Amino acid sequence: MATLIIKDLHAKVDDKDILKGVNITIKAGETHAIMGPNGTGKSTLASVIMGHPRYEVTQGSITLDGEDVLEMATDERARAGLFLAMQAPMEVPGVTNSDFLKTAVETRLEEGEHLALFDFIKSYDKALDDLKMASDVPHRYLNDGFSGGEKKRNEILQMKLLKPRIAILDEIDSGLDVDALKIVGDNVSAMQGEDLGLLMITHYQRILEYINADIIHVMMQGRIVKTGDQSLMKKIDAQGYDWLKEELGIDDERVIVEDKEPVFLNPSKKEAL
Ligand code: ADP
Ligand code: MG
Repeated sequence: MATLIIKDLHAKVDDKDILKGVNITIKAGETHAIMGPNGTGKSTLASVIMGHPRYEVTQGSITLDGEDVLEMATDERARAGLFLAMQAPMEVPGVTNSDFLKTAVETRLEEGEHLALFDFIKSYDKALDDLKMASDVPHRYLNDGFSGGEKKRNEILQMKLLKPRIAILDEIDSGLDVDALKIVGDNVSAMQGEDLGLLMITHYQRILEYINADIIHVMMQGRIVKTGDQSLMKKIDAQGYDWLKEELGIDDERVIVEDKEPVFLNPSKKEAL
């Protein structure tokens, strides 16, 4: 059974401290949700778990079944069963969706195992159908010209074929209309089960109407500031975050408070000052 343990995680980008001591343990069979306003470090946490090179871990640890994740390259993390559905998936013109996915699935095979092409195509077609995606998607370039909603569905399609042990879905609900939200929600909840540990990162509780989360966390100022059950999610939905900021004595929930220097649309105006 997969267990991802994150302890006292600190990370920075360009000398800016973003994560300031994150603690969370995700076990197979559990679904966690991290909620929180914009700019509190949620996507940074997801990027650091997958090993995005821009972020430097300065303190703390991440282990998967006792193995040091921070020592692994990103592809090793994926092979170990970690998966991230990105908030803003990249477009890669020149690489077709099917070539990308085939390579990704092959990478996850054990040594000596070979991809059964017929089975791959069959499960790809089924996943396209489940997600109500167009049949020409496999032949189009990866996310190239895809709408926001199509990109999100494509992330879930990858998850369906890659069958991760621990999956992080970063704002999988953003940019989805009501119908797409239901399709994505139903497909993710169909994957919930004792083999999967799930971390949902979201602003809103609406996706959590489709995907049941057992444990709800709130992130502010680069750490998890509160953990609770579904009642916490309902309270946030009804009342927002102000009550929590008051309870914690937090004035600004963001990690970095933008400096207040005015933005000059015409730089010559700035020189004139
Ligand atoms: P959230 O996902 O909660 O909205 P993020 O983790 O995306 O928050 O961002 C937290 C803060 O870190 C923001 O102020 C953001 O501008 C900053 N940040 C995140 N990634 C980068 C980066 N690659 N370069 C510069 N600043 C970054
Ligand atoms: Mg984010």
